[in-house]
Amino acid sequence: MHRERVSENVYWFQSEIYAQVTAGVIVGPQWAVLIDTLALPEESLSIRDFVEHEIGVEVRYIINTHYHADHTWGNCFFPGAMVIAHELCRKFLEERGIPSMETARRQNPAFKQVKMVLPHFTFSGGTMNLRVGKKNLTLLPTPGHSLDGISVLVEEDRVLFAGDAFMPLPYIVDGDADDITTSIRKISRMGLENIIQGHGDIVLRGEIDAAVKENLLYLTNIRKVAKTATRRREAEDYMEDNGVEACGKSRVYLGGLAKELHIRNLRSLYQQEKKIHEK
Ligand SMILES: [Zn+2]
Repeated sequence: MHRERVSENVYWFQSEIYAQVTAGVIVGPQWAVLIDTLALPEESLSIRDFVEHEIGVEVRYIINTHYHADHTWGNCFFPGAMVIAHELCRKFLEERGIPSMETARRQNPAFKQVKMVLPHFTFSGGTMNLRVGKKNLTLLPTPGHSLDGISVLVEEDRVLFAGDAFMPLPYIVDGDADDITTSIRKISRMGLENIIQGHGDIVLRGEIDAAVKENLLYLTNIRKVAKTATRRREAEDYMEDNGVEACGKSRVYLGGLAKELHIRNLRSLYQQEKKIHEK
C-alpha cells in the first residue's frame, strides 16, 4: 500500500494489490474520518494500524463514496466507527452487497473475515457537512460511475476526494455516461488544488484541466464508437478495434484493468444504443 500526506492532517492511501484503489484519512485532535476502505482486509487493516499507532487517534466516521466492494468492504475493520453515505449506497449494499459478500466469503479465503456494515447516516439531495478539527468536509452527490456516488471536499485545502466519479478511465457500466459527464464538469469548476481519484494517482492542480478534458473526450468517443457499432454487422469486432488509445486515453495503468474496463464500457453503451433503436 502506498501512503502520502496530501496536506496538513490529510492522508492518501493507494492499493498495490487491486486496481490502484484509493482511500483517505482526515485527522482531528481526538478522532479521524476515513474516506473509503481498500479492497482487501489486509490493506484496510494497515490503514487502521497507521491511524491508531502512528497518528494516535481512532477512526470515528467512515464516509463511503459509493457501494462498490473495493470501497466499502473494509468498514467492518473499524468497529467503533459510524458510516456515512448516500441513501442509495445503503440500499445497494443491502440489496447487492450482502449477497455478493456471501459469495465472496464462500469462494475466497481472503474475505472470510469480512462483515457487512451498512451506513448509519445517509443523505440524498443537497450536501452534508462534517467538521473534523479545523477542517470542514462537504459531502456532495457526484453520480455517474454509480447512482449513489458522492465526493468529499476538504474545504480549507480545496482537496476533493472524488470517489470513482473521477478515474484515470471513466467507468460507467453501473452508472450513466450523461451523469458522469455532468459530475466531471461540476468537479472542473470547483477550483481545486488536488483531485483524489477513486483509483489511480492524485491529480495535481496543474494537471486538472487536461485530465478533465481527456475524460470528457473519452466519454464522447466511447459514445460515438458504441453508436457506430450498432450500424455494423460485426459490432463486437468494431468495438475491439477501437481500443483505449483510439478513444483518446493513453498510459492508463489501473493495475492492468484498463483494457477490460474499456471494452465493458463500450458493450454497455452499445446495449443501451440498441435498446433505443428497438423502441
Ligand atoms: Zn472503485
